[in-house]
Amino acid sequence: MTQNRKAVALISGGLDSMLAAKVVMDQGVHVEGINFFTGFCVEGHTHAIRKHDTSKPKRNNALWVAEQLGIKLHIIDVIEEYKQVVLNPKHGYGANLNPCLDCKGFMVGKAHEWMQRHDFDFIITGEVVGQRPMSQRRDTMPVVARESGAGERLLRPLCAKLLPETLPEQEGWVQREQLLRFNGRSRKPQMALAAQFGFVDYAQPAGGCCFLTNEQYSVKLSDLWQSRGKRDYELDDIMLLKVGRHLRPRPHFKLIIPREEGESRYLEGYRRQFTYLQAFDQNGPIVLLDGTADEDDLLLAARITARYCQGRDAAEVSVRITTTDGAARIVEVAPLSTDDIHGEWLL
Ligand code: SF4
Repeated sequence: MTQNRKAVALISGGLDSMLAAKVVMDQGVHVEGINFFTGFCVEGHTHAIRKHDTSKPKRNNALWVAEQLGIKLHIIDVIEEYKQVVLNPKHGYGANLNPCLDCKGFMVGKAHEWMQRHDFDFIITGEVVGQRPMSQRRDTMPVVARESGAGERLLRPLCAKLLPETLPEQEGWVQREQLLRFNGRSRKPQMALAAQFGFVDYAQPAGGCCFLTNEQYSVKLSDLWQSRGKRDYELDDIMLLKVGRHLRPRPHFKLIIPREEGESRYLEGYRRQFTYLQAFDQNGPIVLLDGTADEDDLLLAARITARYCQGRDAAEVSVRITTTDGAARIVEVAPLSTDDIHGEWLL
């Protein structure tokens, strides 16, 4: 009896997982969604922080998908456990620091545990054969099913017809004829299906479902590990890598300089954790200093801060330096010229 079967769908907030869940729901299966919060998620982060980025609605896309589908969504924090996936991926990284194959195995594995605990029958993902990232190659799909422990209880409705039959198909919980054979990188079949279901205004993730596929982000994460002499991170570290320009003028410290007002306000929330600098009598962003800095370093940081304030063309600018103990002082510095800001400082 199809009506009695229950499936848990991995919901990223993107279109594919939304369609996959919908295809199975339409066969009378009870579907609930699961969304894993790793800290690297793209959805709603930089976009929510930036004040001027108003072209898209500020929303949690996974919740939006759940609302569109009319399903319950379980958002699960996996920040700590996910570190091992990022730091020591058995299958290595993709083009950047994205451990996609390990990541997918991990997420399906967590969904499988959840499925067993909650007495559900199978797992749904929005994977499509031949689509990026690398976890979606035809030869890696069995790896995810095997290593996650989900085995034949993992159904990929968007490309199921190109894959061996899974348990839900064999048992008649879903009809294989009504599943799909999407293949490759073209998004047209997904867009056509979305139109058929009447979905509009869905998220269009560029390049991947998390920041680890982003080259610039990966450079900043490598720099973080190198500067600290160990491969580790806290949630604040990886959130801050999403915000502002990161300049490393000297090996032992870097500056985080917001690019606009929303980012500046976001960084204000970190004032107690970092030494920070800000032009005193001119408009200018708050600049966080991450690392250790002696007097000479602080003066250089103040000169860079002055460069990014409205008084950048003045001979001297007053910059307030506040340390983590709350002690503040003002220094008068000449703004660093653009020529003196070396390209290699920019991460
Ligand atoms: S893009 Fe990120 S979230 Fe998506 S599979 Fe790869 S590592 Fe995982």
